[in-house]
Amino acid sequence: LMLAYEPAKRLARLQVNMERAMVNARMIYELIDMEVRQEDVAGAASLAVSDGRIVFDRVGFAYPAGGPVLHDLSFVAEAGKTTAIVGASGAGKSTVIALLQRFYDPQSGTISIDGQDIGSVTMASLRGAIAYVSQQPYLFEGTIRDNIRYGREDATDAEIEEAARLANAEEFILSQPQGYDTPVGENGVTLSGGQRQRLSIARAFVRNAPILLLDEATSALDNESEKLVQDALDKAMRGRTTIVIAHRLSTVVGADKIVVMEAGRVVEEGNHASLIGKPDGVYARFYRLQGESAPNLLEAPRPGETQ
Ligand code: ADP
Ligand code: MG
Repeated sequence: LMLAYEPAKRLARLQVNMERAMVNARMIYELIDMEVRQEDVAGAASLAVSDGRIVFDRVGFAYPAGGPVLHDLSFVAEAGKTTAIVGASGAGKSTVIALLQRFYDPQSGTISIDGQDIGSVTMASLRGAIAYVSQQPYLFEGTIRDNIRYGREDATDAEIEEAARLANAEEFILSQPQGYDTPVGENGVTLSGGQRQRLSIARAFVRNAPILLLDEATSALDNESEKLVQDALDKAMRGRTTIVIAHRLSTVVGADKIVVMEAGRVVEEGNHASLIGKPDGVYARFYRLQGESAPNLLEAPRPGETQ
């Protein structure tokens, strides 16, 4: 038994080492790319973003291992505007964001940016047009400066510092023992959730992409941090086409468009005023249920629970 166990242990160690090497290697986006490596089609063109208008047109999708997840899903994220996606856990919100980054390709329908099918452009040009701020930003082994630079490999120090200012991160960075050169990650200083988020937003600023994808945090930050994060995000969203998986009531209410998903379908869309104007609608019902007093929208209830 021990003999059989030994190689497995060695293999596990090897994997840990490989993961470390990957983490130390280049940009966050390339790391994520390794999850599911998509090939460029022959003769793929470079995506040319003019306005950043995103169209999902009758998209159908199933994960390699699993049943259908998106059914005939269509919506438009208008250029420079904020589109909030809401829906119960499992509705397919994260899948929409994953398909837009081409971690997977849809089985039917098309996703296009400024009229170009994202399946026909190079991966590099697509990912270069998109900044993604996740729910739980990952910090790599390295300095604060390195971690912001993951947003764009050739960013100058001046650009990194400007991004940190815009992301409301400068003050806490300068209060660290070595400022921008302070090591973070497993062997570095520990940063709070709000500080990590602001570093991740600084990454997005340094990337300066026309499209911003946000997966809002569901866990509460302390008030002060929450305000700084929100203010930084508001700045990042300005002038960019933003698709946000929204959990905060203020994000949803303030969005230019709300797309309500249920079981892989768009069941309603419109802005807050128009959606609460349909009292029997899914959105209006869960908005009433949540109550205006609730600080966070969190996830919409599952279909059966909306009555
Ligand atoms: P949401 O973000 O709205 O909670 P997701 O897009 O994460 O929903 O998931 C939609 C559906 O797809 C769920 O039923 C989920 O279990 C399934 N799913 C998500 N990721 C995978 C995966 N990698 N492989 C197989 N099924 C998945
Ligand atoms: Mg999700």
